[in-house]
Amino acid sequence: MRPPAPAIVAFAAAMLLLPAIAAAAEPAADSQVGFERQLLDAPGLASISYINILLLLVFAAVAFYVCNWTFLDARFVNTNQAAWGAIVLAGAVAGLAAAVAVPIFFIGLPLGIILFGGAAVAYALHRNGLVTPALRVLTAAHLARLRRRLMGRKAIEDGTGPASAANLEIVFMGLDDLPRRLAGGPPAQEHANREVERVLYDAVRRGASAVGVVIRPQKAEVRFRVGGEMVAGSDVDRPASDHFAATVKRLAGLDPNETRKPQQGRLRAVVAGHTMELRVKTAGTVRGEQIAVRIIDVQASQMKLDDIGLPQAHLDTLREALAVKPGLVIISGPKDSGLTTTLHACLRHFDRFNNNVMAFEPHVDLEVENVQHVVVNQEDGPVATAEVRSRIRMEPDIVAVDSLYVPEIAQILAETLKARSVLVSLRAADTSQAVERMAALFGSAQPLADRLQIVVNQRLVRLLCTGCREAYRPNPEFLRKANLGNRNVGLLYRPPTRLEAADGKVVVCPKCRNERYVGRTAIFEVMPVDAVAREMIGRGSSAADVRTYVRKLGMRNLQEEGLQLVIEGRTSIEEVLRAIKQAT
Ligand SMILES: [Zn+2]
Repeated sequence: MRPPAPAIVAFAAAMLLLPAIAAAAEPAADSQVGFERQLLDAPGLASISYINILLLLVFAAVAFYVCNWTFLDARFVNTNQAAWGAIVLAGAVAGLAAAVAVPIFFIGLPLGIILFGGAAVAYALHRNGLVTPALRVLTAAHLARLRRRLMGRKAIEDGTGPASAANLEIVFMGLDDLPRRLAGGPPAQEHANREVERVLYDAVRRGASAVGVVIRPQKAEVRFRVGGEMVAGSDVDRPASDHFAATVKRLAGLDPNETRKPQQGRLRAVVAGHTMELRVKTAGTVRGEQIAVRIIDVQASQMKLDDIGLPQAHLDTLREALAVKPGLVIISGPKDSGLTTTLHACLRHFDRFNNNVMAFEPHVDLEVENVQHVVVNQEDGPVATAEVRSRIRMEPDIVAVDSLYVPEIAQILAETLKARSVLVSLRAADTSQAVERMAALFGSAQPLADRLQIVVNQRLVRLLCTGCREAYRPNPEFLRKANLGNRNVGLLYRPPTRLEAADGKVVVCPKCRNERYVGRTAIFEVMPVDAVAREMIGRGSSAADVRTYVRKLGMRNLQEEGLQLVIEGRTSIEEVLRAIKQAT
């Protein structure tokens, strides 16, 4: 079933009026004798045989379907919905009227089909000019798809409407790993089901870490958190917005009727084969009912060091650094740059059967097997410090602290470092800033001079959609400035600069729905800290001097690491610059 549209209401009204039109066309009741005589006498309704009625019903059903589809499709392809809805509806009404009212049925029906078909084909030609070839209708490929579907009946759910054109591949799973279907219910509910799927699908595709929805009287406002920033999603209109909160709550196993008290639930969503865990919180507020969904990438959170996108040379350097005991490892970057994923990947590198590994974290989304996770909210100040101190008395072999920013906890770590390995993640724009911040937190550079092994700084970078990325030849001046002048760089890629067809309407990319980027990876600035560098830190050399020294040994900075991805055609220069400039 598709959601209802005003077209349906208008269409139903027109259908109700048809008998009246027919009756008006019918002459005074004559005696009816035989089929031939009916044709010759050319009366109206009274002469229509059962087979004619059946043909009329089929015509009406097809017209109904096409009108409804047109109305939804016009919104999807971003054209004038009211005008095209009206044109196709007028064609349908005129066609049906002709089929019923023209005295000779086998002239009236073809005439009706021509009237209606003309309007429908006109719309199809118009909308085909607005979309990419894969989304065109009434083409040979489209008809072949329709035939397969009619024969196989295997894809009943994905009609030819906008939902399937958007190709939403989202499946919800309960924590019992059984699929939770969003289907059935009255039209507004059915529409809400599609909107819940659309919003969560969009969030995952855009790489959002959270979704916030506020239910207002007239609509549901949708916001995504992407790369640490809140951005607007497309809102949900009434009447679907009325059912939006209850639909999400049912999915997450919560009470759909409780709109005031806070509730928490969770479920999983599989998007294009990728599993996400959704942590759902709902509560009534004075602004309206609010829904907050945290999106946790289950696969990413189970990544090992090999999986996080580190080039082989960096991987070897990091493994060597982790092997030094006792040693200090710093993972740094802005908020939402995947620090926890890298920290957990490092913890997975240790032998967690023979070592007691303890991780202090602001919140524990997903655990690393055989690691003792301790939730520590550093905003609690002395309470958090006391918690860390008492836990470390239990003498873990390896200690990790996620998002460290409290000096008192850093000082406990400085003490711990004398006998144990410590891994820390903190906010910093690059590796040198991470060294400075860590020294400031310790209150001295000495622990760094004694134990620092490696500093990593990272960013998440979105990957260009291969369906619509655009090749261009970079200008040599730019390449020289980017230190790429001596490299043999051919074509680079960027997001499409034109999304319009010749007539100025939007073309929809079937692969990314014009998001331009699909998926993400990380880029890493890796600063190995050798004995010389430690000695420099101990002497009080500035972080800049240490950096200059390590650069001479061949360390590549974030920009150079990012440009490598650009040269490989996987991302764009503007995306690398955006990621690097991200505020910490
Ligand atoms: Zn694309």
